[in-house]
Amino acid sequence: MTIPALELNDGNSIPQLGYGVFKVPPAETERAVSEALEIGYRHIDTAAIYGNEEGVGAAIAASGIARDELFITTKLWNDRHHDEEPRAAIGESLDKLGLEKVDLYLVHWPTPAKDDYVHAFAKIVELREAGLTRSVGVSNFLVPHLERVVAETGVVPAVNQIELHPAYQQRDVVAWADEHGIRIEAWGPLGQGKYDLFGTPAVAEAAAAHGVTPAQAVLRWHLQKGIIVFPKSVRAERLRENLDVFGFTLTDAEIAAIDALDPLDGSGRVGAHPDDVN
Ligand code: NAD
Repeated sequence: MTIPALELNDGNSIPQLGYGVFKVPPAETERAVSEALEIGYRHIDTAAIYGNEEGVGAAIAASGIARDELFITTKLWNDRHHDEEPRAAIGESLDKLGLEKVDLYLVHWPTPAKDDYVHAFAKIVELREAGLTRSVGVSNFLVPHLERVVAETGVVPAVNQIELHPAYQQRDVVAWADEHGIRIEAWGPLGQGKYDLFGTPAVAEAAAAHGVTPAQAVLRWHLQKGIIVFPKSVRAERLRENLDVFGFTLTDAEIAAIDALDPLDGSGRVGAHPDDVN
């Protein structure tokens, strides 16, 4: 099984499909990540706020997999944007992960009311220069946040990790990112199970046509649109299912039918609005 890699705007490459560990309980994380690595996942998405970086690190250490075969992302939490806090925060994350550097470090939310995200991003660019992360990016940034970061630091983030699934496609953010060479990572790629995505005719029919599950059809939709995904599950059979998405191709008509699931008014959002997280 070869997971395709996408090139980032800094020349590094990222496996297009990985395993995200939001809400994986700390005590279960080492087992779940070990299972994922054994199944073939090589890209793990965690965050300081998830409280499970130690478990990710323990699984990496136990795996025996060469460091350069793994792609590890973690994120700077909202209360560590100011002053030199990003340097302290990445140090703590690296200790917990048992790594000398991560592959991708993200500003987790813009927290616009605090107006410190440009500073936070500038600081993580310094962390890249110091060799503590190979790539730098942002998460939950809307177009005005991206515009300011690029204009004021002169650095284009390698990725923007945003809520994105068929009912909430954030087309304005995706278009801006495409124009500027920023890769989009989808969080909640399956809608976090919070609405009946799998029961929609567009998804159910595409799944039936290819003899795959609705989750596989949705993941395939993301992949064919060039989006990076890391669906979360703690069940081995679902981890396998979510990785087994490279043996079929959705037709243009099937992609268009799933595209049409977003009514364009933002009502399909299942998570917090970035302007409201501060
Ligand atoms: P998701 O869309 O991946 O949904 C996860 C849920 O979908 C699981 O709890 C499980 O119940 C279900 N599921 C998974 N595989 C399935 C399958 N094959 N069939 C049926 N149901 C299945 O949502 P998520 O976990 O929130 O998002 C993925 C990752 O994105 C997270 O683990 C985390 O790494 C990241 N994330 C980032 C942010 C951010 O603010 N940057 C926010 C949320 C999540």
